Amino acid sequence: MIKNFVMKPLTKKPRGTMSWIEANDQAKINAYFGSRQEWESIGDWSTFWPAHPENEPQFLDHGYDETKDRADWTLGDMENAANFRGGSLVSGSMATGDITTPLAWECAAGHSFQGSPRLILTAGHWCPECVQKPADYAAQARSNRFLAQLETKIAASA
Ligand SMILES: [Zn+2]
Repeated sequence: MIKNFVMKPLTKKPRGTMSWIEANDQAKINAYFGSRQEWESIGDWSTFWPAHPENEPQFLDHGYDETKDRADWTLGDMENAANFRGGSLVSGSMATGDITTPLAWECAAGHSFQGSPRLILTAGHWCPECVQKPADYAAQARSNRFLAQLETKIAASA
């Protein structure tokens, strides 16, 4: 009852997942399901099996030496972190250990943005324009190793 009269109509509303399937909206289907083929492979409730995420904590590579004291961070550490994300560090200087003064960065798509070493290296921030395009994450992951490892870990836990 609830499934047919409440949930089903909801999914067909303009922002519902089934409206994307009906309209064959590839960008939204790919962002939400991975691809139309993956959506079709979901099957129905008789074949649905919830994902079992691993209970083991996983460590992410952030593209810099995390054992190094932040007070010793240099321009080279910032350049490594930028390269790891497929972009580059635009700022040409940084006071050693100054983790709060914003630096200038550029992502693989050529967007320029500002962010402190602390924001980029420890808080996981990167290009504010690219992060708004989840449908594009798979393409971004081809040049961004930080994003690529997230995609791999998500796929492995599904
Ligand atoms: Zn970008």
